[in-house]
This record gives sequence, C-alpha cells and structure tokens, in this order.
Amino acid sequence: MSLSVLINGAKGRMGQALIKAAKELDLAVAAAIDQGDNPATVITRCDVIVDFSSPAATGPLLELAVAHRKAMVIGTTGHPAPSKAELLKLASRVPCVWAGNFSVGVNLLFALTRRATAALGTGYDIEVVEMHHRFKKDAPSGTAERLLEVILEERKLGADALRHGRRGITGERQPTEVGVHALRGGDVVGDHTVIFAGLGERVELSHKASDRAIFARGALRAAQWVSEQKPGVYDMQDVLGLKG
Ligand code: NAD
Repeated sequence: MSLSVLINGAKGRMGQALIKAAKELDLAVAAAIDQGDNPATVITRCDVIVDFSSPAATGPLLELAVAHRKAMVIGTTGHPAPSKAELLKLASRVPCVWAGNFSVGVNLLFALTRRATAALGTGYDIEVVEMHHRFKKDAPSGTAERLLEVILEERKLGADALRHGRRGITGERQPTEVGVHALRGGDVVGDHTVIFAGLGERVELSHKASDRAIFARGALRAAQWVSEQKPGVYDMQDVLGLKG
C-alpha cells in the first residue's frame, strides 16, 4: 500500500508543489489542509504529516503528531531560536525529518561548504549571499542559516561572528567575521552562494533552484524514509546518506 501524507499549508506555493509531486510519485494525499482547517479531524487517515506553512503552525501540529504517534516532515522556516529549541524537543518524540532545504543539490552544497571551510582555513574570508522571491517572509533563508551553522561549527565561532549586511564606517573586515546578505526580488525560487575570498584567489560554491518541485520531491522522499525510522529528529543529510 502506498504511503499516505497529510499536507499542511496546502494552498501555498509549496503545498501545491507537494500535491503535484505526490501524484507523480504515486503517494496518497490523505488530506490537504490550510489555515482554518482542523488537522485533528484528519490526522488518523495519514502515515506522515508534511508541513510547509508558517512557524506558528509547527507547535500545535507537533503536539498532535506526538499524541497520535505520526511521523513528520517539517519544511517550514523562520522559527525564532528559543522556540525552535523547544520544538526540537517535542519533535524528538516522533520520527521527524526537519530540514531548512529538501533539495538534493543544496544538501550537497552543505557537505561541500563544510569541506571547503576546513580545507581553506582562516586565511579565507567567508560571506554567504542568498536571493529569494519578493514574497518570502523571513530572512536570511533557512538554507542560509544552515550554511552559516556549518561554517561557524567548522571555524569554532559563535553566532556573534555573523554580520548581517554592512553599513556605515564598519572598519576593516575581521578574519573572525562571517558575512550574511539576503537579497529579495521577483520570482527567484532560491539562490545560495558561499564565497571564500583569500588574497589572490576566490572560491565560490553556488546552488540555484529554478523549480520548487525539487523541494517537494525531496520532502516526499523524506516522508517515505521517515515512516520507517525510530523517533528522533533527522535532517536531509540522514535521508540522503551524506553524513560521515
Ligand atoms: P506560502 O505563503 O505560499 O504558503 C504558506 C501556506 O501556509 C499558505 O497557504 C498559508 O495560508 C498556510 N498557512 C499559514 N499558517 C498556517 C497554519 N497555521 N496552518 C495551516 N496552514 C497555514 O509559502 P511557501 O512558499 O509555500 O512556503 C511555506 C514555508 O515553507 C515557508 O516557511 C518557506 O520558507 C518554507 N520553504 C521551505 C523549503 C524547504 O526546502 N525546507 C522550501 C521552500 C519553502
């Protein structure tokens, strides 16, 4: 029997892409719900809940998933750090894949960024630039946040190293800074570039998404994978076997 998914945020850009991808992949859509619908009335019909909606939806949905022992895939971004920490605790009680980006290419970018940060060392200044469509509500993107986490981990730096844009007399760039720049406009699905600038050379790692189907297919691949896992929080690197 094919896997049955509940799609939350179904009227949105990602929700629509998920409904289309589910058809392509022959997965059953148990329910496609949005703001104003009550997930409690449909949750028993599904194997996995897939949420691409708004940060406020994540807590109540996770509570429901825990109560009904349902696996979850969370793609929603923009949760403030303290509430995310609480949500992760709740998420660990069910099998849950939580990823800021479900594309295979971006997950490779995470792995390459880790290798490049380690290989190039502190003589190279790192700046992350992202661009998204004019409708995006949060900045920097969840993907940029993850890239920054990887860089900070490898460089052994804290969040105070981040410089979100620059303005005025900022002084010379310090080697311990990591720059972050969020561009917004038009219908850009999602571009991310990590720049490693040394004296005499520059390395740039870029990923450009042109179709949100990549996120939808990745999220449904994660739904299939997570339906067979023990409770715990996983990411797309786990799903794709890119760890280690
Ligand atoms: P969107 O604004 O087009 O759609 C969001 C939908 O969620 C809307 O239909 C809205 O009515 C609905 N919604 C809002 N609050 C809700 C609630 N409490 N309960 C149920 N539905 C609710 O946005 P989008 O471009 O589809 O993106 C949705 C989310 O997914 C964003 O957080 C975005 O950053 C994220 N996203 C993640 C990835 C990824 O790979 N992880 C990729 C693309 C987008």
